[in-house]
Amino acid sequence: MARPGDHHDHTDQTACDSQVCAHAQDHAARAPLALQQASELCKTRGERLTPIRKRVLAALYSTHKPLSAYEVIDAVAADMDKKLAPVTIYRTMDFLIAQGLAHRLESRNAFIACPAYHAPDDVVVFMICESCGGVDEVSSDRLGQALQDLTRQHGFKPQLRIIELAGTCAHCGA
Ligand SMILES: [Zn+2]
Ligand SMILES: [Zn+2]
Repeated sequence: MARPGDHHDHTDQTACDSQVCAHAQDHAARAPLALQQASELCKTRGERLTPIRKRVLAALYSTHKPLSAYEVIDAVAADMDKKLAPVTIYRTMDFLIAQGLAHRLESRNAFIACPAYHAPDDVVVFMICESCGGVDEVSSDRLGQALQDLTRQHGFKPQLRIIELAGTCAHCGA
């Protein structure tokens, strides 16, 4: 099972454009298995990955970039010849996020697939490349522990443990 942090390989130094970037290949290659696993995960929880939910998740897996609700609408429309209403997309995203299958990137107001199947209270760090738009999700137990100590010290109860870093990815920086 993939763990956050071990699912992305930056050793491939091919040019980082939207077609050949390793982020994208990585994501697309993972899609068929991820969709199947997502569907099984929902079943064991007594939930349903309906055709629309599945298409939306597939749209998120079709790119390594976070997608806005409107970009998801376009991607799904290209795929099923039907334009979904924004409210449907948001409702679907709520479901996918609640199931741990996707995340919302607050700083981009956009959504991204989560292939990590981590615990809901894991600390998740997004490294967002401002050059190619690629996003990598990583995690660290030590960081989680440090954050827990810090928030406890302040009597703060975090509901969402997501950190978004903006910068340059290994490809673009090479
Ligand atoms: Zn995740
Ligand atoms: Zn980049």
